[in-house]
Amino acid sequence: MTPEMTVAGQTPSYFGRMTARLRSTLGLALDVALPPLCPACRDLVGDQGGLCASCWSRLSFIARPYCERLGIPFAYDPGPGILSMEAIADPPAYARARAAARYDDVARELVLAFKYGDRLDLAPTMGRWMAHAGRELLADADMLVPVPLHWRRLWTRRFNQAAALAQAILAESGVPIAYETLKRVRATAHQVGLSAAERAANVQGAFRVPTEKRPSIRGRRLVLIDDVLTSGATVDTCARALLRAGAAHVDVLVFARVVEAVRAPI
Ligand SMILES: [Zn+2]
Repeated sequence: MTPEMTVAGQTPSYFGRMTARLRSTLGLALDVALPPLCPACRDLVGDQGGLCASCWSRLSFIARPYCERLGIPFAYDPGPGILSMEAIADPPAYARARAAARYDDVARELVLAFKYGDRLDLAPTMGRWMAHAGRELLADADMLVPVPLHWRRLWTRRFNQAAALAQAILAESGVPIAYETLKRVRATAHQVGLSAAERAANVQGAFRVPTEKRPSIRGRRLVLIDDVLTSGATVDTCARALLRAGAAHVDVLVFARVVEAVRAPI
């Protein structure tokens, strides 16, 4: 990442605040002419789509050792290929999940800016990190399947963040996107504040593969794409629908995931 700029002896945060104020005063028309801001802290950054050096250093990327099934990091290294107790006791419908980063403060700011803050320009960067975290999944994938929004939410938000991330991953990996393969047939309540069991009930039966799309995924290896994985209920329901429609294998790749402690079976 490019370090923050310092202009005429002023601190970056001073100019960051000034630029933020100018932006809100002048509106989006001047957006391209103003220097880019860090999506997490609003300080100036040198190039478009990046984090400032300080936020970059606080973003916690996920790397091995992790549960090979759930992709949740282990506190210590139990050895290669080990699954967590959680994956063994309650295996998900998908085969493997991978996330670029832990869903902590910096990742949350990034996701909120991307989703609700008109920062679609973050997609290539986030997609690059995802493609790196999911390189093993993408190496033997036939198609990417973005988790769909219900049309009503798509209409208010204007774009599907999962589809925008899938486009960035296609650019990195060359794996094509299977559009419209998964339909959200029922609007679901926001998952925020629900327990794991409530989340699972909330999304049950919410997704379907239209009959005319079934031949295109039959026997195929798919990678579900979403921005955040919390309890995993949404991607699990999606994976179930895709497998029921004939997909051979479903993996999951997200930008950030909530990390709860998992145990190796020792
Ligand atoms: Zn920052």
